[in-house]
Amino acid sequence: MANEKKAVIVGAGLVGALWSVFLAKRGYQVDVYERRSDFREAGYIGGRSINLALSERGWKAVEIAGIREKIEQVAIPMPGRMMHGTDSSLTFQPYGEEGQAIYSVSRGGLNIELVKIADEMENVRFHFNQACLGVDIESNTLRFEDTRSGVEYGIESDLIFATDGAFSPVRQSLQKLPRFNYSQQYIDYGYKELCIPANPDGSHQMGTGALHIWPRGNFMLIALPNIDGSFTCTLFMPFEGEDSFEHLRTDEQVTAFFEKFFPDTLQLMPTLLEDFRENPTSALHTVRCHPWHYMHKILLIGDAAHAIVPFFGQGMNCGFEDCTILDSLMDKYEEHWPSIMEEFNANRPEDSNAIADLALLNFIEMRDKVADPKFLLWKKIEKHLHERFPKDFQSVYSMVSFSHVPYSQALAAVGQQEELFNRMLKIKDLEQNWNGSEVEAVFQYWLKTR
Ligand SMILES: Cc1cc2nc3c(=O)[nH]c(=O)nc-3n(C[C@H](O)[C@H](O)[C@H](O)COP(=O)(O)OP(=O)(O)OC[C@H]3O[C@@H](n4cnc5c(N)ncnc54)[C@H](O)[C@@H]3O)c2cc1C
Repeated sequence: MANEKKAVIVGAGLVGALWSVFLAKRGYQVDVYERRSDFREAGYIGGRSINLALSERGWKAVEIAGIREKIEQVAIPMPGRMMHGTDSSLTFQPYGEEGQAIYSVSRGGLNIELVKIADEMENVRFHFNQACLGVDIESNTLRFEDTRSGVEYGIESDLIFATDGAFSPVRQSLQKLPRFNYSQQYIDYGYKELCIPANPDGSHQMGTGALHIWPRGNFMLIALPNIDGSFTCTLFMPFEGEDSFEHLRTDEQVTAFFEKFFPDTLQLMPTLLEDFRENPTSALHTVRCHPWHYMHKILLIGDAAHAIVPFFGQGMNCGFEDCTILDSLMDKYEEHWPSIMEEFNANRPEDSNAIADLALLNFIEMRDKVADPKFLLWKKIEKHLHERFPKDFQSVYSMVSFSHVPYSQALAAVGQQEELFNRMLKIKDLEQNWNGSEVEAVFQYWLKTR
């Protein structure tokens, strides 16, 4: 009966390619339309290896799709952050318990692997160089342009999944409908990708067991390892203002800035000036919208439904979790799509809105708080509480990155845990007594009264 179940996916990015595997495994005939040319042959955009942090929610989806082992081979564990001080000092902060880590994976490598796996399934067909122009809502007809010939045509389908990213043309068509809610919020910060190349023998210039971070108050530099020995670095900073991209226009300005704030990186980055000149300064925004489906026939998933800023490393993980949730709803409702879309549309936005908020909050933590002694003290207490009371206490970071607790619960825990820490700050000499009986007594009281 495979050919009776048909679906169209717009966008063969991370979420679209993975979702095609989920559908194909259930016997759907899946047609995936992608604007770019086939990146298995053409190479991935940019050329440089841009990487992403994959964590528990993403792994679960990858596992259900049956490709965990393949991805594990190219994923580098990062069990903590390595903080680089202005005096070049190094401080390691574990993210979770012994054995827990987030993983650095190449965006291009992962996308190519997902497309390869989907393409090996006989019921998935990829159509590259096909740019979606929008959707004629009344007839469920997607409008496409073949980018090589310029020919325009329509594809009609009763089951359309829009995984066409943060600027989704499918969503833009839905935005014209009455009662479609949409917001797009840019932050005042941008980012630029830079590179730390491998040593001549292919080894890494810094340790790979960490996400490297240079927190500098209002801005920061991070670096994630790649399997080719290089690191992809990202500088996040304001577009305008005192220390900002607008004041880094000449080679001299860039050199002076790095000498002042990131002196230990200069010798690691031989192509700094060239990279700084040539790589774009990109903007960051959050997209929220609702409803996510139209007449149970078109469904937005991934960034098309909920684009977030990257500071919790959760955008892709959240999109992958969309797939896991839809998969379980397919079981629950025996693939009755109106019921699946209704429930997904009713429940999931609360969590995607929560991770959007958490991602904005985590920016402050990364660029500023990680260097604050009070924050480091709280991290020690968090770890202690979790070891002593594993069932009753989990840090917000762990909830987001190492569990499947709904994002909305993790967001609710932010305020509750802040309240707990504020109570603990009243304990005398907390710096020395961070694992003492008073801390535990305050915790027990908080547990009963929160
Ligand atoms: C700097 C940065 C760092 C990030 N780091 C992380 C991280 O560490 N961890 C994490 O989980 N997430 C991270 N993210 C977020 C992550 O990149 C996104 O959430 C993820 O790529 C979303 O996947 P998607 O498939 O929904 O969209 P996309 O990956 O954007 O894919 C959309 C696809 O649709 C195609 N498309 C677009 N328009 C059309 C059209 N008109 N017709 C046909 N096809 C079209 C595109 O070519 C693309 O292939 C980061 C994002 C940024 C910007």
